[in-house]
Amino acid sequence: MTVGRLSALCTGAGLLFAISHLTGVATTLTVVLGVAAYCTALGAVAVGVRRHRPSARLPWLLVAGGLFGNLGGASTFYVYAVLGIAPPGPGPQDVFFLPAYPLFAAALVLWRVRRGGRDTVAAVDVTIVIAVVGTLAWLTLIMPSSSAPGLSTGQVLIATLYPCGDLLIIAAALRILLSAERPPPALWLIVAGVTSFLITDVGFAVNTVYLGAQPELIVLFSTFNYPAFGLIGAAALHPSMATLDQPAAARSDGQTRARLLLLATALFLAPVAQFVSYLTGATQFVPIYAFLSMVLSALVMTRMWLMLGEQRRLAVTDGLTGLHSRRFFEEALGTATGRRTGVIGVLLVDVDHFKKINDGYGHAAGDAVLRELAHRLSASVRTQDVVARYGGEEFAVLLQEVDTTLARAVAERLRESVAATPMDVGDGVLIPVTVSVGVCTQPVAEGIGDQVMVRADRSLYSAKEHGRNQVVVADALAG
Ligand code: GH3
Ligand code: MG
Ligand code: MG
Repeated sequence: MTVGRLSALCTGAGLLFAISHLTGVATTLTVVLGVAAYCTALGAVAVGVRRHRPSARLPWLLVAGGLFGNLGGASTFYVYAVLGIAPPGPGPQDVFFLPAYPLFAAALVLWRVRRGGRDTVAAVDVTIVIAVVGTLAWLTLIMPSSSAPGLSTGQVLIATLYPCGDLLIIAAALRILLSAERPPPALWLIVAGVTSFLITDVGFAVNTVYLGAQPELIVLFSTFNYPAFGLIGAAALHPSMATLDQPAAARSDGQTRARLLLLATALFLAPVAQFVSYLTGATQFVPIYAFLSMVLSALVMTRMWLMLGEQRRLAVTDGLTGLHSRRFFEEALGTATGRRTGVIGVLLVDVDHFKKINDGYGHAAGDAVLRELAHRLSASVRTQDVVARYGGEEFAVLLQEVDTTLARAVAERLRESVAATPMDVGDGVLIPVTVSVGVCTQPVAEGIGDQVMVRADRSLYSAKEHGRNQVVVADALAG
């Protein structure tokens, strides 16, 4: 069954359900249609998992659990309807409906974790949105419906737990959407599906608190559940469902236009709500909104601080190799030469005949060689030494507290670690690589950074001239 047909079927079932309910047609038909839509979605998940074989089945099992919870809850409602009894609130249906929320949220969280990408800025953004939506929901929907006179503890719990479940799902959905680089279609379908459930919940709450709990509206809002089944079923059948648990690069810039618009809207809502409370005379809420604004300011400052750290990290990191950038190296060199005593060493490492590697194996293989080289260089030095990508195929190493003998030994070790084993650039292709290394050691003094680099470069040039794959130390040149 195609994705489109499934969505149409579930949505159609939902509409027929609504019409049959509203026109008072036999309840049996309503029940059959309802249960059929739920079962189709559950079946779609089972078929999708078998067909597309996602590497992680647990999230789909949780989704199926969530759907099952909804099926159980709705079936309980139908049983009451057939028996002609008004369902008790809270009642057995809640035992099915409520666990569906953490189950859907857990599936989204698991996918996000498997997609990887630590993105603390996204976590702060989600906190901002949840703080605003949560406060608004609490003051306008949860509090009025849970503090009505004469409610039992169970009724208060129900009025509170459902919106909390909604918030949990909103948080989990936003967290994965904000982190995922280009969310795959299956993810959009799932999110659209759970949003559809949320519309039902919000509709119910608004109807209860502000519209006098009209039965027609209950039916109308419950029809929103049906596109949800179609959408979640469609997600399970879409081929991209298998990519939901695949690692995806996180957006590190945190600056997509949609994301900033979402944040701006959330931040704008707090003072607007405060103003509306003031205008409508609900002044008891003003301190709450004022407190919310304080929390939001703190969160925005945290976001700025995190982004600054991230920008700094990007500025001093080489994108291809993950090594430090030339800028970081020069800063470290400046700091080292500004010290009072000690000797520093600089190694300039240049790949021999790198152009031939690019020409012979392609640019991608050349990049793979540079990454492997970065790995071997980092593995050959101490943690306090700085390894940086200095230029295209040129690397620089700053050795702290060395003498000429040690610097030469480190350079030899580096050279050997490269020459000893050919580099695997994928598809079984092995490329023999060698490097030439120019070394310079010098006692520290203010402003010697440039001299050290010039002398190391001269040594490197000499190593190239003398046949490559060798180390030349500046002292030996008497320069
Ligand atoms: P030599 O032994 O004299 O150093 O010869 P060489 O071919 O290594 O030196 P040359 O400076 O002529 O060539 C360096 C090449 O490195 C040219 C440039 O296209 C390539 N290169 C620079 N940056 C990158 C990069 O990021 N990726 C790849 N694949 N190639 C790069
Ligand atoms: Mg070269
Ligand atoms: Mg070069």
